[in-house]
Amino acid sequence: MRKNLIVGNWKMHATHLETIQMVQKLSYRLEPSDYERVEVVVCPPFTALRSAQTVIEVDHLRIGLGAQNVFWEEEGAYTGEVAAGMLAKLAVAYVIVGHSERRQLFGESDADANRKVGAVLEHDMTPILCVGETEAEREAGSTEDKVAAQLRVGLQGLQAGAVEKVVIAYEPIWAIGTGRTASADDAGAVVTFIRGLVADEWGPAAEAVRILYGGSVNPGNIAGMMAKPDIDGALVGGASLDPDSLASIVRFWS
Ligand code: PEP
Repeated sequence: MRKNLIVGNWKMHATHLETIQMVQKLSYRLEPSDYERVEVVVCPPFTALRSAQTVIEVDHLRIGLGAQNVFWEEEGAYTGEVAAGMLAKLAVAYVIVGHSERRQLFGESDADANRKVGAVLEHDMTPILCVGETEAEREAGSTEDKVAAQLRVGLQGLQAGAVEKVVIAYEPIWAIGTGRTASADDAGAVVTFIRGLVADEWGPAAEAVRILYGGSVNPGNIAGMMAKPDIDGALVGGASLDPDSLASIVRFWS
């Protein structure tokens, strides 16, 4: 059984003090039974990870911690970069890799994503590998080709036992931060295609690997996404900045 997973990507929002408040507010709005049904993770900026770790530990919260990026080298002269081992020491459990904003604004490639996935797994954390097509690619009918290429390179060199630990986030680029969402049918079809591709390439890992949808998810559209059998959760940007809205997304069935 794959456990549902809702991940808040706060992007470049929230100071460390705001992060403490946001994490606490989210925890006040969730019941113990919610955590039985859904794994809840927030990804604040690097500068807030230590504060988030502290509030989670001191208040015994069941909210998981994620980072938004990582560099693949262990240490060295890489000004401005953060290593996987540094994140692991902060009790970070998840690391977003290959987000389309990293790809589009910072020139990250599929090969970069592959190195990052490897570094994250090496430190016993879970990579959330983001894939997705542009609007032009969708209109040209090349969504599956694009996503397949991103996955084949992003997961290159991994055995099935490693692939099943990865979380894949299908995020159509035209739906990120735009308020436009893929229909649940369209998102479900691409996610089913992704699971099939994992089955073809890595066999049994396909049943275990969790696949999220991301792209303007909100409390009003999450239930439709979660009704698709292959969608195991969501990567949520804008709507995750409001604890009320993130809590409503976590409680998608109510
Ligand atoms: C994201 O940042 O991964 C994302 C899906 O953003 P939004 O929910 O704002 O579209």
